[in-house]
Order: sequence, then C-alpha cells, then structure tokens
Amino acid sequence: MEKPIYLDYAASTPLDPEVEAEILPYLRAAGNPSSIHAAGRYLRTAIEEARALIAELIGAQPGQIVFTSGGTEADNHALRGAVETWAIPHILYNPTEHHAVLHTIEALAHAGKVQAHPLRVDAYGRIDLNHLEELLRSYPKSLIAVMYANNEIGTLQPVQEITDLAQKYGARYLCDTVQVMGLGWVKVTDWPVDFLAASAHKFYGPKGVGFLYRKEPIASLITGGAQERNQRAGTENVAGIAGMAFALKKAYENRHTYEAHLRAIKQYLLGKLQEKLPEAQINGDPSMEGSHPGILNFRLPPALADDMLVLHLDLAGICVSGTSACASGSGHPSHVLQATGLTPEEAVRALRFSWGKYTTFSEIDSALEALKAALTQPA
Ligand code: PLP
Repeated sequence: MEKPIYLDYAASTPLDPEVEAEILPYLRAAGNPSSIHAAGRYLRTAIEEARALIAELIGAQPGQIVFTSGGTEADNHALRGAVETWAIPHILYNPTEHHAVLHTIEALAHAGKVQAHPLRVDAYGRIDLNHLEELLRSYPKSLIAVMYANNEIGTLQPVQEITDLAQKYGARYLCDTVQVMGLGWVKVTDWPVDFLAASAHKFYGPKGVGFLYRKEPIASLITGGAQERNQRAGTENVAGIAGMAFALKKAYENRHTYEAHLRAIKQYLLGKLQEKLPEAQINGDPSMEGSHPGILNFRLPPALADDMLVLHLDLAGICVSGTSACASGSGHPSHVLQATGLTPEEAVRALRFSWGKYTTFSEIDSALEALKAALTQPA
C-alpha cells in the first residue's frame, strides 16, 4: 500500500528528523536531572537551556515557563492553579474551547469552586467582545479562557482586545495557544496575557510534552518532589523538553517561510474545492486573515456525504479528521460546530483538513480526488 497522505496536522504533526536527532542522546542518558552528579547535571543543564530558549523565543523570563505533559496539563494547571491561588469566583469562557479547557471548567463548577459563564459566539465561533465586557462589568475578578485559534475550524479570536479588556477590569486571562505556538506569533512582551498553554506535538516536536507560561507562580497541579521549582512534581521528560525547545526554535526561525507555505496550500485548497466540489460549505471563518493558515473545515450536503466520510477516506489512504482527534470516536457531533449554530446532523458531515510544512500541492489534489470518489453517488 502507498504511504497514506497525512492531512491531520492539527491533531498532531510528524516529528521533524532534526528534532529526533536532538532527542536521542537524552533518551539514552542514564541520569536523573535531580541528581547532583555529572550524569544528573548533564540532564539538568539540558532542561534549563530548553527553558531559557523557550522563554527567549516567546519574550518571557525562564522562571515563567513550567514544563508539562502537553497542552491538556498546561490548561488544567492554569485553570485549577489560578482558581486555587486567587480564589477566583467566576470563569468567563469561550464555548468553542478544546475539551482540555471545557471539561476542566465544568469540573471546577461542579465542585462549587467557580461559576462558569459561557460567552456568546457568532457563526464563525468568534466571541462577542461586548458580551465579554458586559460580564466583566458584573464580575471583574474573573478568569477569562479564550483560545487563540480553534483546533477544529481554525477561527482566530480577538486575543489582543481580550487582553486589553482583562487589564481594564483586573481580570486574568488564559489563552490556549496550542494551535498557534508553532506559527511563531506569540511574544508576551507585546501581548501581556497571564497564561499560555502549548504542546510540542503541534510543531513537529515529540508527543506528551508541553509547557505553561504563567506570568506569576500559582498552586501546582501535581504534588510530590520539588521539580520545576515546586510547580510540577515528577522526574522531567528531558528528551521531550529538549526536543520541544529545539522544535520551537526551528519554528520561530523559519516562521515566515512556513506560514507562507501554509497560506499557499490554503489558497490552493479553497480554489480546488470551489472548482471540484462547489457544494462544500466552509465551517468557521473562511477569510485568510481571520483563520488559522493550516486548517480548513467544511461540510457537504446530505445527498453527497454521510457521517462515515472520514472512514471512506482512510480506506483510500487519506488521513483527515471529522472533528478534533479527542472527540472522534466518541460518537458525539462536535460541540464547536454546534456552538456556531450547526445542527448535529450537519456537524457529523464536517471534515477537517489540516496541513503543514511537509504537505505538497499534489497531495491536496490526490485528497480531493479521493474525496470526490468517496462521496455518495446519485442513484
Ligand atoms: N488545546 C488545543 C487547542 C488543542 O488543539 C489540543 C490538542 O489537540 C489541546 C489543547 C491538548 O493538547 P495535548 O494533546 O498536548 O494534551
């Protein structure tokens, strides 16, 4: 069988071979980074160099970076830690957040620790800033949770305006930047958010490692040893951390080239889709400036598509998503698409194509041909 065509970069990116080479010595190393002997110091140095590098890339101080097991843990740490540390009574959240954020807020509300207030969103899933300000007037001591780019539909949120409002009312702001960190857009020197969540496997780094940027220390999520300056107990994933820092450096250094490539692919895909499948309707913001350059979500009418399209495409060697990787297989129509006003029946006919630096134009052609072939043929 030919190699599958991978168009699911928003779920996870392939490991960059240069990152793989960077990681190997740390995977093989015997020491524990908390040990004071040479073997331990070798790994401790790698961790602290990675921390300094990541901090420098995003404009932060090294002490503001906490390494985690990925985006989910970074979101959990920010939400639970902020609520515990400052006894924040209200969370104002975007209903199209990833489940890492939504389910954590639900759990905090269920435990009676916070009151959770969903923000109104438009048909692109973008939050209503007036509604946010209305809520902030009533609840200034809130924690705001609004992501940068949506992982299913790619819609970008007005993060700068949200930060301005948070500062005006003295609220705290968590921005889940998991989908944009690899675009090299984030600089906290220009954009003073309180928390950022990131995950290495979205920018060609290894899976199972990420980081939380937090302006000020908060209660830790995982207790035990004194690792991460008492902010996250447990022996560090040294290879993952070193690989993540290297991958992020590469992403920032090449950000203009990578982004131009993503945009060119998007333009091409949009054109081809219009030409070959004019029935397709875009979900989320269809504009270039309002959406992630590497994500396109669309749906097809019931006469052409059923809810098994992702499986048909998989059989044809094309890897795409029907919804986010975490929700697929759950049988539930996407909460993101439903928040934008789609019915569950429409939501299950959605496809997400997401691409990256290795994607070629001919792969897009092949994927669209496979998609046309997989559509229900009129009797
Ligand atoms: N937040 C967003 C926006 C995501 O897209 C994802 C992963 O898909 C996560 C959080 C969770 O990250 P991780 O898979 O590293 O736990």
